[in-house]
Amino acid sequence: MLSAEIIAIGSELLTPRFIDTNSIYLTEQLNAIGIPVVTKSIVGDDENYLEHAIRASLQRTPILITTGGLGPTEDDVTRKVLARLLQRQLILNNEVLAKIESRFKARGVAMPSNNARQALVLAGSDILPNNHGTAPGLWISHEKNHIVLLPGPPSELKPMFEQACLPRLQELAGGVVLARSVYRTTGLAESTLDARIAPIYTKYKNPETTILAKPGAVDVRLTARAKTRQEAEMLLKELGGQIDESLDDFIFARSEQSIEEVVGMLLVLKNATIAVAESCTGGLVSELLTNVAGSSAYFMSGVVVYSNESKMELTGIPPLLLEMQGAVSAEVARGLADGIRERARTTIGVGITGIAGPAGGSPEKPVGTVHIAVAAPAGTQHRQFLFPGDRLRVRRQAAQAALDQVRRLLLAM
Ligand code: ATP
Repeated sequence: MLSAEIIAIGSELLTPRFIDTNSIYLTEQLNAIGIPVVTKSIVGDDENYLEHAIRASLQRTPILITTGGLGPTEDDVTRKVLARLLQRQLILNNEVLAKIESRFKARGVAMPSNNARQALVLAGSDILPNNHGTAPGLWISHEKNHIVLLPGPPSELKPMFEQACLPRLQELAGGVVLARSVYRTTGLAESTLDARIAPIYTKYKNPETTILAKPGAVDVRLTARAKTRQEAEMLLKELGGQIDESLDDFIFARSEQSIEEVVGMLLVLKNATIAVAESCTGGLVSELLTNVAGSSAYFMSGVVVYSNESKMELTGIPPLLLEMQGAVSAEVARGLADGIRERARTTIGVGITGIAGPAGGSPEKPVGTVHIAVAAPAGTQHRQFLFPGDRLRVRRQAAQAALDQVRRLLLAM
């Protein structure tokens, strides 16, 4: 099967200040036409390291795309290294030179002599015009390999890739059609989810299954490839149906929707409103809910009740309850949910209290302990969690779990 490798060239990419975004863009584009990226690397402006990296790539991967190092300065070594490696001459291309000169002329400046270097072209290569900068790209077919040299600046690389490379790569890929689907889940750890569905998806090479975990959510992504869209969709349906059945109500979305969007949609559908009283999540649930456009239709109020005083004042929790049970308890979570629901006069009230850490844990209530309560007309439900990870992860998982608890309640309403 056709596959590609990317080498991002540039010493600046090896410092903490610059990020190689080109390879992410290229991977997305290549995947969309059915070409997987099997490995990628970053190499500084060093002839020896680059030669080594390119030589290794040519031995193992049919398509190599390099980005950067095509500039006019001494440290732009890509062309030079390839000429040496493939034993091809670098020839000054007059047409490219004239184009570079005219770019400078249009700006009213004389071309620095260095820039003539960018008109050096590897013998037998195809020139990929650069309409947004000076350095042209090159496409070199060498034995069984295709080597594509692209400039570093994303504003030059992207149009060049889309105009001059994509059609050619698509032809090489044999006109494969891709279809994708996603199952977004929450409430199952990645390993638990994988144990559930691995017996199903390992039976299929096509569609390909990828599992992607984020704090509090795990996405299952399927990619099917076929000659026609209909065929690809059929493949997706066969495997997707089994995964759907296996993960059942842990799935909160079968599209790119976030859980807060799903909750928002359900609130509208059920004609319900919501208010939130948060302690350890510090307003995260309110932030997520109000990120959704149109949330003013259902989101009434969100309070961060961090201190005991504010819990009493803003949600009416009795002082004795706080004293007897402690702020992190089922009773206080329930009190927060009931209190905010009553005060904001909403259909649903959410109360969250817990220990995000790193300090404040005890043997009875370790860091990661979170109580979430959701109050609704039919009563108040409470759940206790013990989330792993650091402060940020605990907060994110707690927010996600609270939204999921609301989602499940709304589905049952
Ligand atoms: P130029 O003719 O502009 O010098 P070039 O091909 O020599 O083009 P580089 O000099 O390697 O490109 O990089 C130019 C700039 O492009 C870098 O300073 C950086 O901002 C950006 N760039 C280079 N490589 C990448 C990358 N992999 N991802 C994102 N940006 C990049």
